[in-house]
Amino acid sequence: MTDDYVMTINGAPARADSWISVVNPATGRVFAQAPDCSAAQLDQAVAAARQAFTTWRKVPLEERQALVRKAGTRLIENAPELSRLFTQEQGRPVGAAEQEIAGAGLWMHAVAQMAPPIHVSEDSAAQLVETRYVPLGVICAISPWNFPVSLAMWKVAPALVAGNTIVLKPSPFTPLCTLRIGQIFAEILPAGVLNVISGGDALGPLMTAHPGFDKISFTGSSATGKRVMESAAKDLKRVTLELGGNDAAIVMPDVDLDEVAEKIFFGAFFNTSQICVATKRLYVHDSIYDDLRDRLVAIAQRTKVGDGSEQGTVLGPIQNERQYRRVSELLEDARNANLTLLHGGEVPNNGGYFIPLTIVDNPPENARVVQEEAFGPILPMLRFTEIDEVIERVNDSEYGLAGAVWSKDTDKALEIARSIETGTVWINQNLMLRPDTAFGGRKNSGLGVENGLDGLLEYMAPQAVYLARG
Ligand code: NAD
Repeated sequence: MTDDYVMTINGAPARADSWISVVNPATGRVFAQAPDCSAAQLDQAVAAARQAFTTWRKVPLEERQALVRKAGTRLIENAPELSRLFTQEQGRPVGAAEQEIAGAGLWMHAVAQMAPPIHVSEDSAAQLVETRYVPLGVICAISPWNFPVSLAMWKVAPALVAGNTIVLKPSPFTPLCTLRIGQIFAEILPAGVLNVISGGDALGPLMTAHPGFDKISFTGSSATGKRVMESAAKDLKRVTLELGGNDAAIVMPDVDLDEVAEKIFFGAFFNTSQICVATKRLYVHDSIYDDLRDRLVAIAQRTKVGDGSEQGTVLGPIQNERQYRRVSELLEDARNANLTLLHGGEVPNNGGYFIPLTIVDNPPENARVVQEEAFGPILPMLRFTEIDEVIERVNDSEYGLAGAVWSKDTDKALEIARSIETGTVWINQNLMLRPDTAFGGRKNSGLGVENGLDGLLEYMAPQAVYLARG
């Protein structure tokens, strides 16, 4: 069993002396072991990436783009098989797992079309002054467990197109698909360009402190993101931090509830609410509050929660025990505070990390379940009457990742959207993200952006060249 999953260091499979256990969250049982990368192996991976950088940076952009496109195609081809493994380690039902993997492949295709610009400040008889973008070097990429494949590829694709090399570390809770992808890509990428390592809680801090990295691209919680930045400060490594959110949605009185109720529901509960940009606070106009609440509870009751490998399952378990305990504790706190909890259907009682879909009926604004990022299926619904007042409540948050406005009056909705202090706002839709559009958080939700040309340039440094003529 222990040789099933290997790291990829310098293009070759790398086994470890010790292992971390990987648990299927739908059963609570260990089903595989992943390598626990040693400090010496991390050094090897960084050295391999540094060596590979000397040649990879000189590979013409078009060839790097072509290889990233090819890698995306390999991901799409392997999606059906990888999706079963994805469900075992992550919990999400197989169909949605396959969509993430194939979607990540398409994402790579789109990133492979991007190219850094060249700015010409002056092109005269006297001089040429231009700014080009050059790669940074070796990237430390650290990804979380909620979207383990796509969020890793959001880093791999632009970093490679930009001409960098990478050491990628998935979450200890979901290392397996990423390890497999490392092997699949090793068949097409030059050795050392993409190294994939796995390990326990000690590996992330070892990486962020490693002097061999030029930049850290991190996706995870705000608390860890701050530790990453602290560690990066020691040698001024560049950082991109994609962190937590406590996103609000505002539902105006003019919406057609037949049309939007289901969309609002899945905007909050898809992936069992383990989405950084899920709706985590739902502000609903008083005049439609009761109607929408009853509809959401009805949808929750008919949504099948269970093992993602079983036919008909729509929502899986919480991904890991640590998160399960945290969400359970938040639920307990809500119960102790005598908040009104409305539950969805049955959840399996089999040792898996299942939590019933829960709607909290109009809790006070200062309740923990409103103020904190639950990252689990607990949705607080809050009444409002005045739009100015609700915008203040929405913005009174330590986070600033995304948000949504639901209204038939799109002019008014746009005005509201523009007053929300987040990196992304949706109107009459949610959870939409695109490879050609910058995504990033404000406040405690992050620093820098991923995706779009801005995201590509986060893996590059501007270099101004002044050429005297004549
Ligand atoms: P986490 O912070 O616990 O872990 C993220 C990654 O960091 C893992 O690979 C982990 O092993 C590693 N890590 C842990 N401690 C570290 C340290 N001291 N130094 C370096 N690396 C370390 O986050 P998580 O629980 O895996 O993910 C859930 C969180 O991620 C939520 O808060 C969610 O909102 C956020 N998230 C943000 C985005 C975004 O794009 N903004 C996307 C997905 C998830």
